[in-house]
Amino acid sequence: MGGKMVVFISGECGDSCYYCPVSENRFGKDNFYANELKTSDLQDFVYESYRMNALGAGITGGDPLLHLDRVVELIKLLKAEFGTSYHVHLYTTGRYATRDALSELLSVGLDEIRFHPVKPQYLSAVEKALGLGMEVGLEIPAIPGEEEKITKLIEWARSKKIKFVNINELELTERNLMNLASKGLKVGHGLAGVSGSFNTSLKILETFNESEVSLHYCSSVYKDVVETRTRFIRTVRTSAKPYEEITGEGTLVRALVKTKLDLSDFGEKKGEFFAISPTLIDMLPRNEFDEIWLVEELPYGQKIHEKLIYSKTKKS
Ligand code: SF4
Repeated sequence: MGGKMVVFISGECGDSCYYCPVSENRFGKDNFYANELKTSDLQDFVYESYRMNALGAGITGGDPLLHLDRVVELIKLLKAEFGTSYHVHLYTTGRYATRDALSELLSVGLDEIRFHPVKPQYLSAVEKALGLGMEVGLEIPAIPGEEEKITKLIEWARSKKIKFVNINELELTERNLMNLASKGLKVGHGLAGVSGSFNTSLKILETFNESEVSLHYCSSVYKDVVETRTRFIRTVRTSAKPYEEITGEGTLVRALVKTKLDLSDFGEKKGEFFAISPTLIDMLPRNEFDEIWLVEELPYGQKIHEKLIYSKTKKS
């Protein structure tokens, strides 16, 4: 979802998967987030989309279809602002995907629907979406030990001519940790991949090497590192101040200096500090500074690192 805005439309869901990766402070709560930004105004999704120069949006939750009206309103808003080429996809279990709901989503311009059919009875919703001519994909978590079940599901997808199946590495989070541990699953690699999930995916991908269904594997590391970084970089490219440096991770670094000099031409006054480019620090006379800090922030303003690199009164 690299160039797309992540729309978390509500944490409410009618299912309760033991491996659910949605965090404790989001799951079950009717809050919405534009990327990492918590908001209560749908218009903020438009602002956030401009801010990151998004190519489209992916609507997730919870199960977004529990808030169909909100989703419909949002799709209308985004399409009216950015035009029909702004690609919107939506994740759902299918539990609430009635023909009427799907028709309404189609009529407002939803471009693609991705089903995570946590129960076999939800597959009828996938058929309804196909019947309406929607672009349909499946999202399946690669649960170690469930190779047979997953294989059957992919065979079914192939028989229905479903466009693609994404096999997602099972993600270990603070919330699902105990549930996964009770099933003997633990962290495998990187920060959040569950042991055995990658091999499960690999086995399945090999089985379907020559198949007509398009299979993609999405690792939790890929999701975290590549997708998040891509989103950050798109955001900071449009939101960075001239004196802020963009790192390879898509974060922003600036120097905060306390000085009696007037550095307005080089940056911006922030309280008793001037925010300037870190590259300027070595070009200005050090004896004029009281303090120099380097500050690193996420594109949404959360400080992730700060370091005092010079102080007239104490050594850092
Ligand atoms: S359907 Fe999705 S959001 Fe709902 S419990 Fe399962 S994993 Fe979590």
